[in-house]
Amino acid sequence: MGKVTGFKEFPRSAVPYRAEAERLGDFDEIFSGADPEHLQTQGARCMDCGVPFCQSEEGCPVDNLIPEWNDLVYQDEWRAALDRLHATNNFPEFTGRVCPAPCEGACVLGITEPAVTIKNIEQAIIDRGFEEGWVEPVAPRQRSGFKVAVAGSGPAGLAAADQLNRAGHAVTVYERADRIGGLLMYGIPMMKLDKHLVERRVDLLRQAGVDFVTRTNIGTKAAVSTDHMINLMEEGRDETAYLSVEEVLDRYDALVLAVGATEARDLPIPGRTASGIHFAMEYLTRSTQSLYEKSPSSINAAGKRVIVIGGGDTGADCIGTALRQGCQSIVNFELLDRPPNERASNNPWPQWPLIVRSDYAHTEAKHRFGKDPRNYSLLSKSFLMGDQGEVRGVQTVEVDWSRPSDGAPFSEIEGSEREWPCDLVFLSMGFTGPEGTLLDQLGLESDSRSNILAQAPDYLSSRAPVFAAGDCRRGQSLVVWAIREGREVAEAVDNYLRKRSEISAVA
Ligand SMILES: Cc1cc2nc3c(=O)[nH]c(=O)nc-3n(C[C@H](O)[C@H](O)[C@H](O)COP(=O)(O)OP(=O)(O)OC[C@H]3O[C@@H](n4cnc5c(N)ncnc54)[C@H](O)[C@@H]3O)c2cc1C
Ligand code: SF4
Repeated sequence: MGKVTGFKEFPRSAVPYRAEAERLGDFDEIFSGADPEHLQTQGARCMDCGVPFCQSEEGCPVDNLIPEWNDLVYQDEWRAALDRLHATNNFPEFTGRVCPAPCEGACVLGITEPAVTIKNIEQAIIDRGFEEGWVEPVAPRQRSGFKVAVAGSGPAGLAAADQLNRAGHAVTVYERADRIGGLLMYGIPMMKLDKHLVERRVDLLRQAGVDFVTRTNIGTKAAVSTDHMINLMEEGRDETAYLSVEEVLDRYDALVLAVGATEARDLPIPGRTASGIHFAMEYLTRSTQSLYEKSPSSINAAGKRVIVIGGGDTGADCIGTALRQGCQSIVNFELLDRPPNERASNNPWPQWPLIVRSDYAHTEAKHRFGKDPRNYSLLSKSFLMGDQGEVRGVQTVEVDWSRPSDGAPFSEIEGSEREWPCDLVFLSMGFTGPEGTLLDQLGLESDSRSNILAQAPDYLSSRAPVFAAGDCRRGQSLVVWAIREGREVAEAVDNYLRKRSEISAVA
């Protein structure tokens, strides 16, 4: 364990982000460097409680061996800590930065004291590993002769590719976008995850033998018609190539769909056709593209009054991006009530605490404009249009969640109607699932939430040998869950192929 009395001696002390005033001036990562001794002290707080809920189902979805690496960090054994970390997590440099850390919500110390700073320690271990040159490509000793195609290069596709390659199968990852990484590349913005880190990991996978093909759409030509892809093409990018599933299955022994849940939820209220209303993903994708190309983004919040409708990570990332572009003002609408400050009695430990949190972008907005941008229990009723068809405001009404009304879980509060002037609106109300056209064209069954039906642990869709994992199977989720599903689908494909080869050996 860490230090026997460490949890009594040392208070929790998370590694701070860079100061708001500094980080708002750039798109560099928000994280400040961590002092190794500080992290050793924080690792010493781990009680090695015997039943580590942090690495159980309620805690870390990839079952990271948290008490083991906490202790190794405390002992100054960083190399060994890295090996234990990589044993369960293919990409700790991503989760160490962007994971909401359900492990900390389930930490046993957290029942009576603030939890161990698990996520900080994870990030420090992997960052040190890269600095020291300890992270190397892992190629298989021997090839199986099987070929597997993976569609989609987000964390689920990348984790599946890594594991399948290690198992000896020849893996090709097909991605319809121009860069590899899925939402790690276009979605999560630069300041939360530097794109060089994504490229560095992809390079390692390439060196280990994984093939990557970009701008290639698997299964459906229509899938290219999501807003952000259309816009990329309008900006003069090459048309994306197309490979039918029949062609893929002719060339490969199995196909893993890791195509994400990219169908954005719309807000079909009056005035929706006004210009200046964009899906969050369109905005965030263009912003990252423009940073790559060192040119201003074609959707730019500079000098504009911005409204973000919807919360979560995506809403916060729109706020953080608009602030960095120099917006004139920013407000955020949340339909739900403000969460409580403390766990409610029906949300006990070790469940994920459903409490109000301030993400990096909320404190940044407060720093710049003096107040939290979030406004709760607000229903958007219509967009107001100017003479040129441009959005000039949003009309809202407050809702009362304690009083359901006909057909709605809330009622509108009379007299609470309000107009909010704006020049730009970003819609960040989540995703409804994978694009329907892909499922239709493949003739795949979907579940009740319109995700691809492919039950764990075999992850097989209704059409063998097509497997599915990540957001397209479980619905919009987290990077750490995508990594877990990528690892598990790889195991399922490996079992499937080995069984098939045993059958053909007998025949
Ligand atoms: C703005 C934003 C911020 C987020 N922030 C966080 C965060 O801070 N922490 C966190 O844990 N999670 C966060 N998430 C959620 C997280 O990014 C996702 O849960 C995760 O990326 C899902 O991984 P995936 O591999 O299943 O799919 P994705 O990452 O969505 O990747 C799917 C890939 O498949 C490609 N594709 C789709 N169709 C085809 C096709 N037919 N052929 C070829 N390629 C195709 C897509 O272009 C895409 O690159 C965020 C999500 C968003 C949108
Ligand atoms: S991946 Fe997430 S849940 Fe798991 S240890 Fe890291 S921060 Fe915690």
